[in-house]
Amino acid sequence: MDFRDDVKLDASQVENRGGGGFPGGGLAIGGGAAGIIALIAALIFGINPGDITGGGDTTGVQPTSDLSQECKKGSDADQSENCRVVGVVNSIQAYWNDAFDSGGSGSYSPARTVLFSQAVDTGCGQASSQVGPFYCPSDKRVYLDLSFFDELQSKFGAKGGPFAQAYVIAHEYGHHVQDLLGTMGRVQGDEQGAQSASVRLELQADCYSGVWAKNAVDTGFYEKPFTETDIQEALDAAAAVGDDRIQEKAQGRVDPEAFTHGTSEQRMKWFSTGYTSGDPGKCDTFSGGI
Ligand SMILES: [Zn+2]
Repeated sequence: MDFRDDVKLDASQVENRGGGGFPGGGLAIGGGAAGIIALIAALIFGINPGDITGGGDTTGVQPTSDLSQECKKGSDADQSENCRVVGVVNSIQAYWNDAFDSGGSGSYSPARTVLFSQAVDTGCGQASSQVGPFYCPSDKRVYLDLSFFDELQSKFGAKGGPFAQAYVIAHEYGHHVQDLLGTMGRVQGDEQGAQSASVRLELQADCYSGVWAKNAVDTGFYEKPFTETDIQEALDAAAAVGDDRIQEKAQGRVDPEAFTHGTSEQRMKWFSTGYTSGDPGKCDTFSGGI
């Protein structure tokens, strides 16, 4: 991932709360390792950790450190992981800003990404890193513990890499887009199963992620278009977090009735649909077969 050296970064789009969680921030996340794995399976890239923690209040303010000194331009994004996240987030939002302008669906409003470590207080309740990266519609923020990407390799068997990370971030911003367009509400009451609205919503976010990947070079943040090898990294990550693969790992069998995000194959397919077309209009996962 090669940023244009002198492109200006907007660090205000990312808050760094990576100061080590908050005091007494342990979460009741069920008993034992099996419970933890099940929770990851249920919530990976999930939408609302408040459902699990019973939270909903944002109490206490965690210290936020400013990335604006550290992440000023593209060359910084090539050097540090935090600044790379800033660059990726900037590019994703630049794309959606233009797409909304030309698509006639109102205007885009930016959402911040919060980098945290171990645990975080959100508008959707308290969440631990176990939840995986997520988008919270109540406070319109993407939450990301960068250690998740180590887990993506160690626990989920993905190859990892900067494009795996970018896929995940663009997926979460896909949820923000769905939130702005009102698509998110369709999941209410249809949250599980191979044909559920939840799976359709998740696959659409994968498709939106691919759409950004295709258009990323036009946002002006990158030196050159992503290559097939880059895209393989994203597809590999998409496959690693498929419901069937996670269930197989966690419980040794696959239960389509419990699907929330789609199979490995479906996740790759919809990312590819977005990437091949570069057109969010091709991401209609709600009306046809998936
Ligand atoms: Zn998701």
